Amino acid sequence: MPAMDFAILWNFQLQYYGIFTCNFRYFYLTTNSLDISEIRNLDDKEYPEKIEGIEQFVSQNIGKCIELSDVHLYNPANGVNNFNFLKVQLVRYLSLIMHPGLISPTHQERCMQIAYNAKLNSGCLSRQVGVVVTDEDYSVKSIGWNSVAEGQTPCNLRDVFSLISRNNLDGFSNFETNDEDFFSFLITTLKSQKVTEDSLNGRTLSYCFKDAYNASAKKNQVHTRALHAEENAFLQISKYGGYSIKGGYLFTTASPCELCAKKAYQLGIKVIFFIDPYPGISNSHILKCGTNRPELNLFYGAIGRAYHQFYTPIVPLKDELEMVANLKF
Ligand SMILES: [Zn+2]
Ligand SMILES: [Zn+2]
Repeated sequence: MPAMDFAILWNFQLQYYGIFTCNFRYFYLTTNSLDISEIRNLDDKEYPEKIEGIEQFVSQNIGKCIELSDVHLYNPANGVNNFNFLKVQLVRYLSLIMHPGLISPTHQERCMQIAYNAKLNSGCLSRQVGVVVTDEDYSVKSIGWNSVAEGQTPCNLRDVFSLISRNNLDGFSNFETNDEDFFSFLITTLKSQKVTEDSLNGRTLSYCFKDAYNASAKKNQVHTRALHAEENAFLQISKYGGYSIKGGYLFTTASPCELCAKKAYQLGIKVIFFIDPYPGISNSHILKCGTNRPELNLFYGAIGRAYHQFYTPIVPLKDELEMVANLKF
């Protein structure tokens, strides 16, 4: 069985109650005879500021483990000794490891798998997010990923060198081509960091406008070029002819920001399934307000490669039964 990453989501719950976790963890580690410098070393290893260089390929990446996982288990707080919910999931996936294709994916898994596929279309340099919107019967009404408006060039396909040399300005905005402060900021940055075309080995030198603009001017994360995956999915529906999604479901491989949560609320979305928790106040401030509150549910299930490994039968069931029971009609 190829290796799979399991995100045991009680970690999430513990992280969620951050202060409790730190104290509990600290207490646990010290009573298990680690001293403070050992705990600090452990923290540096497990929660580094940034994983860089070769470490990115070989090191643990706890900060990103939820984003990278393909099997998500959920252990809700059902009392200290009640692991029934978790046990059901373990039985499910162990059975599927022993016998791929034994049962079919859940509605949630199927929809999240589509979102997971959609995210690969994103041309965003830092993070790809996929979204699926369904009606109340899990019938898919639209999909989306974070990307620029149709007709604009995604970030990954734009080359700073063509902006600087003014060779091909097609993909760039009037601001990028005409604003003197911003333009000189780009040139100084490239020069001071000695970025040359040779060092790229044939790659395109794309840049994140948001990062550059925030570094050159006042920080304001509104200056992203792309629409969020949720926005794109919602807008597909009005762009190509409307379906009602009131009472429907939103699946996102990340989780909605405040602005997208507001749109989901207004559209009458009933449940939002998310994978990666959002650090802001979209849940506590936007969703948990008023009388029509969408539920925000942690996704659990298999996606990505695990989805295929679990749910693709090795041989068709008919052939299998014929093999083991000699059953033939
Ligand atoms: Zn981008
Ligand atoms: Zn958003």
